[in-house]
Order: sequence, then C-alpha cells, then structure tokens
Amino acid sequence: MAAKIPPFEHTSLDEIPAVAARIRQSFLSHKTRPLEFRLVQLRKLYWALKDNEALIIEACKEDLGKPTFETHLAELSWCMNDIVFMQNNLPRWAKDEKAEDINFTNKLMGPRIRKDPLGAVLVIGAFNFPIQLSLGPLIGAISAGCTAVLKPSESSPHCAAVMQKIIAESLDPEYYTIVQGAIPETTALLDQKWDKIFYTGSANVGTIIAKKAAETLTPVALELGGRNPSFITKNADPKLAARRLLWAKTFNAGQVCVGQNYTLIDKEMVQPFVKELEVQLKQFYPQGARNSPDYGRIVNQRQFQRLKKMLDESRGKILIGGTMDEDDLFIEPTVVQVDSMNDSLIKDESFGPFLPILPVNDLDEAIKIANEVHATPLGLYPFGSKAEMEKVLSQTRSGGATLNDGFFHASIPTLAFGGVGDSGQGAYRGKASFDVFTHRRSVTSTPTWIEGMLDMRYPPFTAKKLQQ
Ligand code: NAD
Repeated sequence: MAAKIPPFEHTSLDEIPAVAARIRQSFLSHKTRPLEFRLVQLRKLYWALKDNEALIIEACKEDLGKPTFETHLAELSWCMNDIVFMQNNLPRWAKDEKAEDINFTNKLMGPRIRKDPLGAVLVIGAFNFPIQLSLGPLIGAISAGCTAVLKPSESSPHCAAVMQKIIAESLDPEYYTIVQGAIPETTALLDQKWDKIFYTGSANVGTIIAKKAAETLTPVALELGGRNPSFITKNADPKLAARRLLWAKTFNAGQVCVGQNYTLIDKEMVQPFVKELEVQLKQFYPQGARNSPDYGRIVNQRQFQRLKKMLDESRGKILIGGTMDEDDLFIEPTVVQVDSMNDSLIKDESFGPFLPILPVNDLDEAIKIANEVHATPLGLYPFGSKAEMEKVLSQTRSGGATLNDGFFHASIPTLAFGGVGDSGQGAYRGKASFDVFTHRRSVTSTPTWIEGMLDMRYPPFTAKKLQQ
C-alpha cells in the first residue's frame, strides 16, 4: 500500500524546553563530531528522500499546488544533489587548515585552524520551498557536526509532516529532531539557548529572531526577503528578457525570495517587452495558467488576501492577467504598468506572480530608483549590453545577481547564497553550508624543547633583550 502523508501535529509547548535540552546535551556526547558519523547521517537522509519521493511530490502539491517538475528541480533533487556534493567535499573541508606565511619560530608552534561544530543549532524554515529551505540548512548543520532542531513552516503543513517522517526514519533522534508549530512554538524555541539560529523568512520575523538571539549573544544567519529589481535597457533582447523574467515570476507562482519584484524598463522597450510577455505566456500555458498543471497556487488565504490587497492598492494599469480565484488560491501571472516607484507593487515585496514595470528614461534613472527603493535587495537582474550590466553591478548592492536572466545565481549549488544588509546575513549552500555551522578555531601548540628560544619574552626586559 502506498504511504500516506502523516497528519501535521503541533509539538506540545510543554515539551519544547526538554527537546531543546536533550539536543543541547547530546552535543556534549561528542558523537556527532567524527566525520564518519556525519557522512552516515547524510547518506541515510539521502536515501530517505529517495524513498519518500512520491510523498514529497504529493505534499508540495497539497501545500502549494507545486508542479511535479518544480518539486523535482527545487526540492527533491536540489537537496539530494546538495547531499552528494557535501559528501564528496566534506572530508577535505573538515580538515585542519595551516596558517599562511609564517616565520620560522611561529611555524614551530604548528598554527592551524580546526573546523569545530558550533554546537546545538536551531533551523527555522519558510513555506515557499518547504523542503529545500528546511533540509538545506540542516544538511549544513549535520555536515559541520552540530546537533539540531528543525522547525519547518506551519504554512506548508503537509511538507512539514513528511519531513518529520523522513527525519525520524533516517537521522539519529538523539541528535536531530523536528518541532512542529507556529508562532507560540517558535517563540518557545527562541526562549531556549542555541549555539546558532538559522532563520529563513520575512524581515519582520527576522528582526524578532535577531533581537531574541542578541539577549544571549547567540549568532544568527538570516535569509530574508528583498524587493529585487530587474533592469531592461534599450540594448536588451526583449524576447529573451520576457521569456526569462516570466519564467522567474511563474516559478512557484512567484513565491520566490529571489524573484524580481519589479522591472525598470527603458520607455522605448515597454511595447516590445509587453508584446513578448504575451507571446511567451501563451507558449508557457497554451490553455491558460489556470488550467495548466505547470502553474502553482498561493500557499494560503492569508497570503492570497495580502496579494489581492496589494494589487487593489496599486495605481497601475493591468496590461496582462489580473484574474484571481479565492477558492482555488489562484492568481494569474499579472503584468502591471505603474507610474511611480511609490506604487504598492514596487515599494513592498509582492512574493507572488505580479510583474510591475516602471518605464524610465535611461539606465542612470533606473539605478537611482533601484537604490532608493531598496539599497540592499537579495537579488538583482539587469538585461542589456555587457557594459550596461557591469555598470548596474558597480553602482548597486545586492545579496547576489544574475546578468541576463532571472534568479539563476541562486541555483548554482557551489555558489554561496545569502543576502546583504537587511536582505540577510550569513550565507549557505556548497561549502558555505558547512562554514555557516562551523567555528574556525585557531590553535597553536608550543613545543617543550623550544623554551630556550622563547626566553626573551619573560621579564625582566633587560637592555640586552631590547637590543635583540
Ligand atoms: P513563513 O510564514 O513560512 O515564516 C517563516 C518562519 O517564521 C516560519 O517557520 C514561521 O513559523 C516563523 N514565524 C512566523 N512568525 C513568527 C514570529 N512572530 N515569531 C517567531 N517565528 C515566526 O514565511 P514568511 O516569513 O511569510 O516568508 C516569506 C518571506 O521569506 C519573504 O519575505 C521571502 O522573501 C522570505 N524568504 C527568504 C528566503 C531566503 O532564502 N532569503 C527564502 C524564502 C523566503
């Protein structure tokens, strides 16, 4: 009989301090430190993902109407590939590093950097890529030798329940566990002492996490949102820009932290770009997005109503789309021409399938607007000549950037992923996933026989010593 998605059950609030204490205590057993232990856990997690493939696909469909292809690409294969990459490289990354360029006496002390696990860590996931954004950081924590509690997003409960099953089946429960719940449970978790908190979600909640962590000087990694700009100059290819930006905005029905939030477009390009968007949209969804199995849904009523309000408040003109169905949580890919950077669709993060475009006179104006809307977005996407795209990079800041495409940089497993400024702090993926949960512990060891050579450091500091 095919396995079923288990029910989503909140962890009892009373249990949470004991769970945290157990995971904290278990770190002190030092059992998670040996490399072999970590590799075994990673291997088991890999196979549990493989074994639960069908359930993951079903859960992503239940929570977000996620097309199977997207689940494979951005959840299942994503995590499995991350594990394989980690397994292949962990033995090398976990090795001590020798200090660089040192003089002879210092060399005798054998200065090196050990890669120590930070300890017991808390990972808090977000709903939009429920598996990837929870298990991705967890893979890093396991690799670094930490013990961990994972708190997935309650907004994607089917995925949260499947992850609980996967973790119980594969990982040693002494060292890794899951706590299910929403604000009260997360608050209870934040009341416990952690050696690192890794949070993915909105900047508002990120602020709550950072304040709470500061009380106990707990380090945090914050993966937050961004009002990410895209740029289309006179020299861009309108067809390519339309196709690629439409892909980036229809993927996961626009619920992507690195998706472009708005497009600053040279006024001469508006007409060809919008025409191409229409053509591409027809090609993506010949029967319309609503009838396509390849287009997802908004995660819940709360997010749906937020998006609806945002579009209602916009003073822009809908050029394409605009249809919504509350019962089905469907929002059509919607292109809106706005006339001000203060429009609701630009100044707030939509995190949905809206493509607001704001015509500009030239690239200088576009760069000025982008820097004013959000000086430190998570991603940034210029389309134009090579020189123009480099100009955008050199006059802006962002967590990452993709030139001539939507958020491709975020999909390269070996590239560290993270924000800058208020779009986040701390990066992960690839080696960065190991580093973010690792303490680089500097160590030297003074040989006994060297004492004679060190004699001059001891008082009294005679005139003879000063001359040496
Ligand atoms: P969400 O509702 O899934 O919340 C994220 C997590 O925060 C959940 O686990 C939730 O339980 C917890 N949470 C919510 N309110 C809380 C509170 N008051 N106190 C403590 N914990 C609380 O997701 P969201 O926050 O709506 O996610 C959307 C945002 O996340 C967007 O801004 C998006 O850009 C950002 N995001 C960023 C990344 C990234 O990697 N940088 C990835 C995905 C999403």
